[in-house]
Formats: sequence, C-alpha cells, structure tokens
Amino acid sequence: MQGKIFDCVILGGGPAGLSAALYLKRANLDCAIVDKSALGGTPTNYCEIENYLGFGKISGFELCEKFEGHVDNFDVQKFPYEEIESVDLISPIKKIKTMENEFLARTVIIATGAKPKKLNIKGESENIGRGVSYCAVCDGAFYKDKTVCVIGGGNSALEEALYLTKFAKKVYIIHRRDKFRADEIVQKRVYENDKIELLLNFVPVEIIADNKVEKIKLQNIKTMKTKEYKVDGVFPYIGLEPNVELFSGQIEEDKNGFIITDGSMKTTIEGVYAIGDVRNTPLRQVITAVSDGAIAGVEISKYLMEIKEKVRN
Ligand code: NAP
Repeated sequence: MQGKIFDCVILGGGPAGLSAALYLKRANLDCAIVDKSALGGTPTNYCEIENYLGFGKISGFELCEKFEGHVDNFDVQKFPYEEIESVDLISPIKKIKTMENEFLARTVIIATGAKPKKLNIKGESENIGRGVSYCAVCDGAFYKDKTVCVIGGGNSALEEALYLTKFAKKVYIIHRRDKFRADEIVQKRVYENDKIELLLNFVPVEIIADNKVEKIKLQNIKTMKTKEYKVDGVFPYIGLEPNVELFSGQIEEDKNGFIITDGSMKTTIEGVYAIGDVRNTPLRQVITAVSDGAIAGVEISKYLMEIKEKVRN
C-alpha cells in the first residue's frame, strides 16, 4: 500500500460510510474504509429498527450486517479496528495515519458518526460498567427483574426503555419536560406499557452508588425539590455529540460541533465530504445516513472526473 493513492478514503464504516463505498465502487473508484471498531456503526446497538424502508422490523445488528455483506460484493478494501491517529485534510493529497498504515487519498469522506452525550453529573463516569450504561442492547440482559431508569425524551430514550422492559421489572423514564420529542407511535407504546413509569419535569442531579448503582437523585424543575429513586441501572439517552476531535481546527463546524456541509455533502475543504450523524443534518437516522453516503459517492465521482478533465486540458 506504500505510496498508493486512493480515490477516496472513508473514515467510519457505519451505514453512511458503507453506502458511500457502494456508490464509489459502482463508479469504478478505488476506495478504502477505515474504522476504529468493527464495521456497522452505532446502529448495530439498536434493539430494533422499523423505519428503514423495505425491512419491516429488523434488529440494528442484522441490518448493518446486510449493509456490509452487500458492500463486500464490490471488493471494498476494509480496515476495521484501525484507530486513526491524525489526518491532513488540507493538502490536495490527503493523509490519514493509523497505528498500522498511512493512507493517501484524493478525497476523504468523514463518516465518523456521533457518540452519546454525557449527563455530566456526580456518579456518572465513576459508575460506567457498574450500573451506568449507554447501550441497552449490550447491557439490558443484566437487569432481569431489576429496576432501571432511562433519561431523555427522544426516540433513543423511549425505544430503549421499551426494549429494557423485556428484562427489567420496572423502567422509569426521566425527562426534563412533560412532552416527548420521540415519534408518536413510540410514545403510544410507552404509554401502553405497564412496566414503564414516567417521571416528567425531572432532571438527574446525582447517581448514588456503593460499588454499584443504588439510587438516582432527581430534581423537579418546577418545585426544585429533590427526590431519590432506587434503581439498579441508569441508561442516559440525552442526544449525541459528533466524533470530530481528529478534524478540529481543519474543518468548519456548527455551534454544536457538527461538520457543516452543503447539499452535495461537501465540507468547506476541497475534496472533503461529511455524511451521516457527524454532519449538520436535520435528521439523524439510518435511512438519511445511507442517503448521504449515496450523494457523496456520486458527487466524488463527478469531482474526480472534473479534475481529470482539467489535467487533460
Ligand atoms: P434527541 O432526539 O436529541 O433527544 C435527546 C433527549 O434528551 C431530548 O428529549 C432532550 O430533552 C433530552 N436532553 C438533552 N440534554 C439533556 C440533559 N442535559 N439532561 C436531561 N435531558 C436532556 O436524541 P436521541 O434520542 O439520542 O436521538 C438522536 C437522533 O437519532 C434523533 O434525530 C433521533 O430521531 C434519531 N434516532 C432515531 C431512531 C429511529 O428513528 N428509530 C432511533 C434512535 C434515534 P428536550 O426534549 O427537552 O430537548
């Protein structure tokens, strides 16, 4: 691989990155996908996806496995479990360094996704793995017949709360308002589930633990009074923050750190595109990530063609 220049290196192998790879390969371009973990991305941890057109209900893991299997038919070079150490996006030939390799590329697609936001309260980071978890699918089974709480009012919080009712005897949903932003259909399922109790207008202020989580202290935002609830597990689902640490200072971001792109997925740096959850998109779903990937793949193939034309003339 030494000295080889890829047409495109895709940073991140979730649905967005895999979709981009498919479109690039169909345009006969030479691309590689680099990911610090296995390919598939965050949705591999989603219990169930029912808004990806054509699949009815499917587990996130199964859907992502199908995505990767599809891309495998097109001989994409995959580099899973390679942590990226540094990137130079500004030069015409981009450089991406991992522990194992140095990749050179004419274009780069950033598809590094987003990670769960932290509550930043006492007892949270100290108890990750001892009752605090950001992945119901990974850890839910540890809470058979126990009491857990989920924090947040979006699709993730409500969907994962429903998933946790498969194991736990009781699931509190703690939300800072009295209205949820999750889809109506998901809200209805929550209201109909006997195992779920809603604690509305509450914010968590402390997770109390003695070697493992025992209670959560909540504050009512109207009365300002605090109250403690016995819980064995705490699952914060309060939104996402973009994985952009590697690019900071090189690329333009919005006020929340999401990479700014235009409708063609172009960033403010020539030859660099951003797709999926990491960009400033109005909707973060598997179907929009896949669509971003398709757009970027087609745009890059046009862009590389234009460059070739220029060199020829
Ligand atoms: P989200 O939609 O941004 O919701 C975050 C929730 O956490 C909101 O209800 C918010 O309250 C609350 N929150 C934020 N900061 C908080 C804090 N410091 N303390 C307490 N509560 C706080 O995030 P998400 O549910 O993780 O979803 C992220 C994206 O993925 C969304 O676009 C979502 O639609 C998408 N998603 C889609 C699916 C699906 O379609 N099946 C599944 C999962 C996620 P407020 O409501 O008061 O702001």
